[in-house]
Amino acid sequence: MKHCRHFIEGAFRDAADGQWLEVAEPANGRPLARAAAGDRTDVEAAVAAADAAFPSWSALPNDARARWLERLADALEAKAELFAEAESRDAGKPIRLAREIEIPRAIANLRFFAHAATQFASESHHGQAGLNYTLRQPLGVVAAISPWNLPLYLLTWKIAPALAAGNTVVAKPSEVTPLTATMLAELAQEIGLPAGVLNIVHGRGADAGEALVAHPRVRAVSFTGSTAVGTRIASLAAPQLKKVSLELGGKNATLVFADSDWQDQLDTLVRSAFQNSGQICLCGSRILVERSILSAFTEAFVARVRALRIGDPVDPDTQFGPLVSQAHFDKVVAALARARDEGGRVLCGGEALDRPGWFVAPTVIDGLGPECASNREEIFGPVATLQAFDDETDALRLANAVEYGLSASVWTRDLDRAHRLAAALRVGIVWINAWMLRDLRTPFGGTGRSGLGREGGMEAMRFFTEPRNVAIALR
Ligand code: NAP
Repeated sequence: MKHCRHFIEGAFRDAADGQWLEVAEPANGRPLARAAAGDRTDVEAAVAAADAAFPSWSALPNDARARWLERLADALEAKAELFAEAESRDAGKPIRLAREIEIPRAIANLRFFAHAATQFASESHHGQAGLNYTLRQPLGVVAAISPWNLPLYLLTWKIAPALAAGNTVVAKPSEVTPLTATMLAELAQEIGLPAGVLNIVHGRGADAGEALVAHPRVRAVSFTGSTAVGTRIASLAAPQLKKVSLELGGKNATLVFADSDWQDQLDTLVRSAFQNSGQICLCGSRILVERSILSAFTEAFVARVRALRIGDPVDPDTQFGPLVSQAHFDKVVAALARARDEGGRVLCGGEALDRPGWFVAPTVIDGLGPECASNREEIFGPVATLQAFDDETDALRLANAVEYGLSASVWTRDLDRAHRLAAALRVGIVWINAWMLRDLRTPFGGTGRSGLGREGGMEAMRFFTEPRNVAIALR
């Protein structure tokens, strides 16, 4: 059993009070690991270490910081398979997903921001007010708080730009999936990353997480997780006027028009709803279908969902694994009961699977209108609803009928319509005839209850730096 200790000042440590949190394997519910149960004392030590490391790390030339990130990426690449296995067991995700998408993406995050460190430039303005240029300076110690659904992928998406911009980091991964963050810390130690530059504190959100957000030496908080916790973090950060980036939940719409190639795209449409058992913030959980194709679409879609290969996540043939934890399983099962109470008709799935672990069958439901809680609140599980629309205006009305605003995908061959909808959908990301197509340079994030601010590319580099305007009088 792996013991996930804190990584503070370049060394591994138990929690100050010696307490541990048990981590179970989603595929069978058996004990898998223990994580140090961090609290205020551990956070204090980590922030002090990061604070002490900041002057020399921020003073490094950009290309030196870039080389550290490249070394970390190289070390991760050399052990990618071990990380994929750990991620698969810890989060219950199909190993192919970890092996082919998530761990490669974590490596890409580190490399992308290594390049960003050397390419980041600031603005200058020349005119009647003289010559103005902008200094972009790192903030100091920053916090990275990440969720369990894409553990290493989202952790690296935060720490890479923070480090590239010259900050030092205290990261708190989810207590539910602490394995790969600990393994990344082992790599940081192996490559000799200067002590204190990257610190990892495990522990519960309410203990370690809140202590980190509230710590006066922490200059900014980059958070990905639920809307409820994001709101709490915003309220903790506000009295200190602390910078926050909040990437929160979603209730994303998939708009399927009759003129689309939907028959050829069924695999992608199914993935967009059920990848990682629906535990991706970008999953399209509300599928809106033009009425004229509703019956044909429903039949074909449900057949494809029924054909998903459900199994042990570490089996390379598995396409669909368990939910991450007992608590999350209970939440999703309760959402299924609510959908039935609201009058939903379950077309497939709708229940837990009779096997060990936290498996819920991939579920498609129709008969629920936009006013139902099932179509308004994030379930974050393998549950998709079908709703019919009559025309483009109706599709847009349904798509925008939620308070979330993370992403949407539009399936049509009509280019004018695609552009009209891209401009009218109230979301941060629109895919046209695609899902999860990601260019790391693009702004990533949502609006409304889906969050505040953007990650990705230079947006992240700007978040992790403070601009200072310098004005020079020209005579
Ligand atoms: P969560 O419960 O909000 O937790 C996210 C992180 O915050 C975890 O590390 C958690 O620690 C920590 N935390 C919990 N309470 C805290 C507090 N009071 N103060 C500080 N930190 C606290 O979310 P989750 O259940 O892990 O993840 C699922 C959610 O993330 C979904 O809503 C999903 O849509 C969202 N998500 C959004 C994006 C995006 O980019 N927009 C991407 C992925 C996921 P513990 O785990 O130890 O409690």
